[in-house]
Amino acid sequence: MSKYWNQEIECMSREDMKKLQDERLVAQVKHVYENMPYYKKLMDEKGVTPDDIKSTDDLHKLPFLTKADLREAYPYGLLAKPLSECTEIHSTSGTTGKRVVAFYTKNDIDLWHDCCARAITAVGGTKDDVCQVCYGYGLFTGGPGLDGGSHKVGCLTLPMSSGNTDRQIQFMMDMGSTIICCTPSYAAYIGETLHEMGYTPDDIKLKAGIFGAEPWTEEMRHEIEKLLGIKAYDIYGLTETSGPGVSFECEEQTGMHINEDHFYPEIINPETGEVLPEGEVGELVFTSLTKEAFPLLRYRTRDLCVLTRKKCSCGRTLVKMAKPMGRSDDMLIIRGVNVFPSQIETVLIEQGYTPNYLIEVDRKNNTDTIDINVEMTKEQFSDKMSDIQEREKALAEAMRTMLGIGPKIHLVSPKTIARSEGKAVRVIDKRKLHG
Ligand code: ADP
Ligand code: ZN
Repeated sequence: MSKYWNQEIECMSREDMKKLQDERLVAQVKHVYENMPYYKKLMDEKGVTPDDIKSTDDLHKLPFLTKADLREAYPYGLLAKPLSECTEIHSTSGTTGKRVVAFYTKNDIDLWHDCCARAITAVGGTKDDVCQVCYGYGLFTGGPGLDGGSHKVGCLTLPMSSGNTDRQIQFMMDMGSTIICCTPSYAAYIGETLHEMGYTPDDIKLKAGIFGAEPWTEEMRHEIEKLLGIKAYDIYGLTETSGPGVSFECEEQTGMHINEDHFYPEIINPETGEVLPEGEVGELVFTSLTKEAFPLLRYRTRDLCVLTRKKCSCGRTLVKMAKPMGRSDDMLIIRGVNVFPSQIETVLIEQGYTPNYLIEVDRKNNTDTIDINVEMTKEQFSDKMSDIQEREKALAEAMRTMLGIGPKIHLVSPKTIARSEGKAVRVIDKRKLHG
């Protein structure tokens, strides 16, 4: 049994991959120019024609496409195929504003599921596995994407969707699930519930989990691996580029291989739009190479991360992206200091807390304030006020060292912070409410 879903592509030499990308890019640009008036106009305004794009080296000549464009063009403005050729629609979760919709032809769906099949195979999945998909189903791409990938691999697929956590665990035991797919925050919740029900990882057969759709830290990975007794792998994607499976983690667990035969990545300086060299942190931009209904050229994801072509021990030659540290619009600017929720998560877990927290940012007397509500475990819980205050002080100090600013910490009783079955809400920024 091969450890690759498509060895030829996944282990292709750089030269062959470049050749394939160049050919596909030329065709994709032509398709967009001829069938998507919205983007044609952007190209015309910039004075670029399809003839100017002969290879990926010419990509920088093309205009960017942003989420604002997608919203403006809603619903059909970026459709590049007749609706009669489309077979499916999905939509973003709307985490950062109005939803955008994406269209798929039969072929688009096939290629997308293929990308997910690569991800499942990379964590050791085969037709002998039982794959429990507890991402949400419906318009959200998580459930349908991994479901399609699981079918392709031939796993026994459990289309659970999210929620009803006790039932998830019951099925996991009864069916002997070996692979689980969901958001990392839901995986932590399932793990917590498993232990509360009096079980240990020895009572389940899970060996691997494929977690994505939201940022999560290395510390969170270790937490989930411990709770469920599995290896936890990252998967990345966004509705605009089809869904999960744009990139996936291999056994090395040091970043995600990008399916670059379908999605060509660039890292840019989010302020200037300039393309940055490999190894620098910047905004991830994707150009689809094979999409039919909803092709996107130089789409700005707003996700911040780094690319590397360092040789991977798994044998795949596909470029790797680091865990995105969040979106450029997740970054909190507090008293002039840049803070990512993921940094806070790192400190919390390092200090022995669970990943159940809520960050509240506000502005009082013209000064930014940051309050972090952190849940104590039953063991950490104490009736003595002085104990709690001491803990709060210690945690605030650890935060100050990491973040450069001191937040106010509120330790709260076990089980008082809402758990997430999908994408977790970690931040309430009240400054936005004041306008
Ligand atoms: P929305 O933008 O409404 O959340 P999507 O459901 O399409 O819509 O989510 C895509 C976004 O989710 C990505 O742009 C990225 O910010 C985030 N995301 C997806 N996978 C990961 C991951 N593995 N790590 C960090 N962030 C991720
Ligand atoms: Zn690898």
